[in-house]
Amino acid sequence: MSTRPIHEGGCLCGQVRYSFAGDPLLVAVCHCRNCQKQSGAPFSLVGAVADADYAESGETRVFVDHGESGAAVDRHFCPQCGSPIRSMAAALPGLTIVKMGTLDRPDQWPPVLEAYCDSAAQWMPALAQQRFPRSNIEA
Ligand SMILES: [Zn+2]
Ligand SMILES: [Zn+2]
Repeated sequence: MSTRPIHEGGCLCGQVRYSFAGDPLLVAVCHCRNCQKQSGAPFSLVGAVADADYAESGETRVFVDHGESGAAVDRHFCPQCGSPIRSMAAALPGLTIVKMGTLDRPDQWPPVLEAYCDSAAQWMPALAQQRFPRSNIEA
């Protein structure tokens, strides 16, 4: 194994716990309507982690969502408390898309881009320099 730092997180009730090694490959804000619906918040902060670097304990349930392209996005959540934990997007093989708000320390990485700004709350200031009206990444 590597000596990269391990970052841990989990759901609201504690049934699901996870960890990943090293920094996320990408941290982004997603303003898509599906993230808004799932999170109950105006946007979702997501981090891409290599599948091989991600480990999880506890059980998740999966809602099979679909992005605009029609590609499947498996949204994993805790069946006890409902916290969204991660998304597995068919369009992003090999990557686990972690819901960064569930990290024990959620403030370590600012977002480098914003996706689906077309559906961003109009009152929200820009959070990243790169802002895309839509995205080919759906998570
Ligand atoms: Zn839970
Ligand atoms: Zn989204």
